[in-house]
Amino acid sequence: MLKVGQVSGEDALAFLARQRLPPTPQNYTLAYIAISQPRSPIGRAVNAITDGGIRIRQEEANEIVGLYAGGSPRTDQVEDDPGHDALRHQAIKLGEVASSAAAATGEFTRDLSAEAEALDEGAVRTVQIVTRMIERSKRAEDDLNAAVREVDSLRQQLEAARDDAERDQLTGLGNRRSIERHLRQIAERGVSRVIGICDVDRFKSINDRYGHGVGDRVLKMVASSLKSSCEPHFVGRWGGEEFLLIVAGDDPSIGITLLDKAREDLAIRDFKLRETDEPLGTITFSAGVAVATGNHAASVAAIHRADACLYRAKAEGRNMVLGEERPPVIVATL
Ligand code: GH3
Ligand code: MG
Ligand code: MG
Repeated sequence: MLKVGQVSGEDALAFLARQRLPPTPQNYTLAYIAISQPRSPIGRAVNAITDGGIRIRQEEANEIVGLYAGGSPRTDQVEDDPGHDALRHQAIKLGEVASSAAAATGEFTRDLSAEAEALDEGAVRTVQIVTRMIERSKRAEDDLNAAVREVDSLRQQLEAARDDAERDQLTGLGNRRSIERHLRQIAERGVSRVIGICDVDRFKSINDRYGHGVGDRVLKMVASSLKSSCEPHFVGRWGGEEFLLIVAGDDPSIGITLLDKAREDLAIRDFKLRETDEPLGTITFSAGVAVATGNHAASVAAIHRADACLYRAKAEGRNMVLGEERPPVIVATL
């Protein structure tokens, strides 16, 4: 509670309530002076009426203020009162705090600035209300900030969990689940897509000759080579030594060109084992390409057709990319 000297604003308000006077700034000032300075001219005049247990009427209050305060509740006497000054300073300060809190919290803006204006009038009740509003708005702001931080960290955890669940541990590419989600999303957007399946040639023999550790390193290298050659398009690990490319478009040649370039980027390099310098030779892949238009089922069907093209590429000698024929445009006459 705001207190100035021995007299509190509440005392002045209680005085007004006992006298059945409304808590206007003028009445409040009168009550405050009557209680805090009973020997002042205003104090004496008020007490002369109220001492006998009689209530002071509004007209009498006005008369006292008019007589001793020059017709205005803000007379020199009142202004010079150090208690009143202190109260006014606190009120102004609170008004400033209220205004900045209002600016920060937005919601309270209108309420608080209205109250802050009233503060200037010296209404202690308003000071109390605004103080409480500021406390509440600060608490609400803190709670809100804490909640925002919590939601943000939860969102990050969820994203990390989903990322883990959709990432292939060995190669760092999206895994089968990620590919499925990507395919469904693109189908939902109604976008036609070119799908390519790549399969490392004679990979089993790498495992057999150099062991699974080297086989894993080869898979990682093929994954990163494919990814950088096909950037920014989506490449995921379909499983084993197979990878899948998704590109928006309805022409298989988009996928064939992209994958043939990726095939060449890999095939031109000669590899050797880091530890022993033993030559591994070239590493190649074959690929099949097909187009999907329509819902997710069209993607599943296109993957089967791309797989058939891949099978042909293997049969025709490997280290090549084959695509399905673009479906012929049917011209109908009317
Ligand atoms: P092709 O040219 O016809 O594709 O011959 P291939 O030897 O590549 O085909 P195949 O399907 O017979 O062999 C694939 C091998 O890939 C079999 C499997 O053990 C191996 N493999 C699958 N996943 C992994 C893996 O994560 N790490 C390693 N090192 N090998 C894997
Ligand atoms: Mg295979
Ligand atoms: Mg293979």
